[in-house]
Amino acid sequence: MLIDEMLHLFYPRVCTGCHSLLAPKERGICPECIASFDAFSDADAAGYAVKEVFRRNYPASNQPESAWTLYRFHKNDRLQRVVHAMKYEGVHRLGNVFGTLLAEMIAGSTAAAAFSCIVPVPLNRLKVVERTYNQSEVIARAVAGVLRKDVCTDLVVCKNHTRPQAGLSLRERHSNVKDAFTPSGNVVPENILLVDDVLTTGSTATAVMRALESAGARQISLATVVLAA
Ligand SMILES: [Zn+2]
Repeated sequence: MLIDEMLHLFYPRVCTGCHSLLAPKERGICPECIASFDAFSDADAAGYAVKEVFRRNYPASNQPESAWTLYRFHKNDRLQRVVHAMKYEGVHRLGNVFGTLLAEMIAGSTAAAAFSCIVPVPLNRLKVVERTYNQSEVIARAVAGVLRKDVCTDLVVCKNHTRPQAGLSLRERHSNVKDAFTPSGNVVPENILLVDDVLTTGSTATAVMRALESAGARQISLATVVLAA
């Protein structure tokens, strides 16, 4: 893209993680920063770690059918800064980068072909106004682009203005989001891939999964960029 390259000359972009100058084709984050994150060794290890969070915190609920994640989160590391920028500073490009990496991990599995649609964890409308966009939807759209699936954002609505989950205990997180999500009334496909940016206790994902299940979803898998549990 010529215009893009010209813009880069006048407004050089820097890496969100380390502030070094990005090459014209790099988007939002440099390869060195990506290589520095604590990545899971393979998709099986990543899936096991995600499912373990649900087994531990929500043993009585249905577990995700399949699960994927890219990185383990460590307090105050570079990834934390990058995730914060993706969430609160409107750095859309990062959602695309991580969504594409996540999709490459998912694409290798047999489960990928069976998804009817990809659903981002909904963000309360007031928060969308506050942040201007839903970062999980940006990630979901990148995943969907690679896997050639549709994104459905109209299956579940977030009705309460929930408090931010950060800093809350498991019990507080659970009650904060327990009734926050309800089915919209639209037809829900049977096999869904739910996409979130960060998984901590699984409270939000579990609440969304229950809403989707109550409306007819039979198999729900989960993909999250970061595992912060
Ligand atoms: Zn960097």
